[in-house]
This record gives sequence, C-alpha cells and structure tokens, in this order.
Amino acid sequence: MQRRYRSALIFIITLLTACVTGFVVPQDTQQSVQAKATSYMHMSYAFSAGTATATPGCYRWQDTTITYKIDNSSAYYQQIWNSAVKHWNDANVVTLVAAKPGDKADMTLATATTKKTTSATGDAVGLTYSSYHSSQKIDNLNVLVSTTSYIYTNVATQMKYSQLQREHVAEHELGHALGLEHATSKNSVMYYANKNKSITTSDIRGLATMYDN
Ligand SMILES: [Zn+2]
Repeated sequence: MQRRYRSALIFIITLLTACVTGFVVPQDTQQSVQAKATSYMHMSYAFSAGTATATPGCYRWQDTTITYKIDNSSAYYQQIWNSAVKHWNDANVVTLVAAKPGDKADMTLATATTKKTTSATGDAVGLTYSSYHSSQKIDNLNVLVSTTSYIYTNVATQMKYSQLQREHVAEHELGHALGLEHATSKNSVMYYANKNKSITTSDIRGLATMYDN
C-alpha cells in the first residue's frame, strides 16, 4: 500500500515535466501539468511556402501502431476526429487503429467545455494531456503511456470555427498525442495558434524522424 502510493506519486511528478521549452504561451503559463497541446482561437495568419524544416518532437510511442478511441457521442465530432486520424494515417508514418470495444486505447480523442471566459488574449480551443515513462526513452524521446486530447466545443463555437477549422484543431491535438511539439512556422499544423492549416511536409518529416522511418 505504502509502496504503491509512493510509486504513484513519482509517476505524477513526471507529468509535471512539460515539453514546452522554446516558445512562450502567455495565456496558459503554469496552467497545464503536462505536455502543452494548446491551440488558440481567434488567430489567423498569412502564410508562406513550406521550408525544409522538420516539426520538433519530444515524445513518441513505443510502436508505430497506436490505438485510439473517440470518446464522444456527437456524430459531428466523431467525424472531426476521424478526419484527423485519417490525415495522420495518410502520412504513412504511424498507423492509428481504433481500439476494440472494451479494450484500453493508447489515445483518447474527446471534447469538453471550458469554463474560462473568453478574453482578448484568447482561450485554448484544444488541449492534449500526455503521460509518459519517466525513464524509458527511444532516441532521447520519452515513451508515451497514454494521451487524452480535447477540443473545447464551446470555444470553437463561440469563435465560429468552421468544421474544417475544427478538423485542423483535431489534427494539431493529435499531433501532440503523437509526440510533436509546436512548430515556429505558421505554415505548420503544429503552429500553436493554428486553425487554418492542415498537416504539412515539415510535420510529416518531423514525425518520420521521431519514428525512424
Ligand atoms: Zn499545441
């Protein structure tokens, strides 16, 4: 009992280590206990042609076949998550497979509502929590245990996101669930404030580097 409690405590501490170095997100500093996966609403940018960069990563799954479940009764959001799953599968780096009913999935893809009030600086429209092994690494990437991704439906609706924009948020959050970090390029699906961009060659290149293919 005592030992179990202690090991649980150690695991929780590992979750406090966020992979958020290298960029500043003033809206939610100190807010998240885990890997940041925050997409912001209300931002729209012009973009330039893609460059030969690779979107960075800080986690990965042990295997390239990863199971997921869509934890949502809404057909609308099921379609949004399914679209994001399809687009990452189309990249041919990892294989996302729906978990069998009753089986535990690696990834949970869900929706939630946030009680935060909308401010001029913006609220998160998506978030991903990532749990990873504190001591198990592959190529310096911490090995993921489980992830849960959310789209905040009330924020998306308040900001009048189209279905396509919500799909981009889902792709962004799923990118985090695969271990990707934010990209500095506004052209990347992993740009922290992305809503208009889908998965780019830089994002796929980054993922392929992480998963060795
Ligand atoms: Zn993010």
